[in-house]
Amino acid sequence: MSISTAIRENWDDLSATAQKHIRATRPALLNRWDCIDVGKVDTITADSAEEALDSFADTYSRDMYDCSGTVYVDIRVRNQVTHEEEIRTITLAEPEPECVDGQAHDWQSPYSLLGGLKENPGVWGSGGGVRIKKVCAHCGAYRITETCAQRHDTGEYVGAETSYELPDDDSREWVQSSRASALRADAERVLVSMDAVTEYVYGTGEVAAIVTGLAEGADREDVIEALESALPDARVYLYHGTRADGLIQIELP
Ligand SMILES: [Zn+2]
Repeated sequence: MSISTAIRENWDDLSATAQKHIRATRPALLNRWDCIDVGKVDTITADSAEEALDSFADTYSRDMYDCSGTVYVDIRVRNQVTHEEEIRTITLAEPEPECVDGQAHDWQSPYSLLGGLKENPGVWGSGGGVRIKKVCAHCGAYRITETCAQRHDTGEYVGAETSYELPDDDSREWVQSSRASALRADAERVLVSMDAVTEYVYGTGEVAAIVTGLAEGADREDVIEALESALPDARVYLYHGTRADGLIQIELP
């Protein structure tokens, strides 16, 4: 039997002094760790339990789990010779979904969509904390924050946790109508400042406003151009309908 095999097989019978000596002089004999998780055992070479846990944790990623919210996994490493064990809980937060057009989400709390208390929409008591639901004004996705969340598997309290829900018909409708009212407010600000515009009315739905009267001698093409540059996110065009001279319509693209 080689010395290394003897050490491995008789570790528990060695004196503390002998163990300490071996740790200092032959660390390579003690660097094999079994990595233990439910239904999964791997072996990692590492100089310490912490290092073995680091390597083991790196083999996990959030996309391995098909569920919402934060995932907690308890992982354990055990030294093959000394049987030293360390446990770590790894926390894998749900990644934030992409917004539209490369924008950053703009999380809002509209009472009309989220309900709850008028002065604090989208917030409800939950466990020992609160559950806060918000909606993105660009894409309609929801973000839910539990301030005092529990682990799904153990029930242990784990602090704040965030999860996301896809946009639905209600949130898409809210996004569209808040974009329309934002454009309506912008359009009004621009229209009142334009001398060439003498009259306008608000539109409905995606139509923000309709210019119904121009100052004497004002050129419609010039007005359209000025509106386009003042409202870069809007679609500005000539709408003929029943009037031969046409009306300038401002709407969401
Ligand atoms: Zn968004």
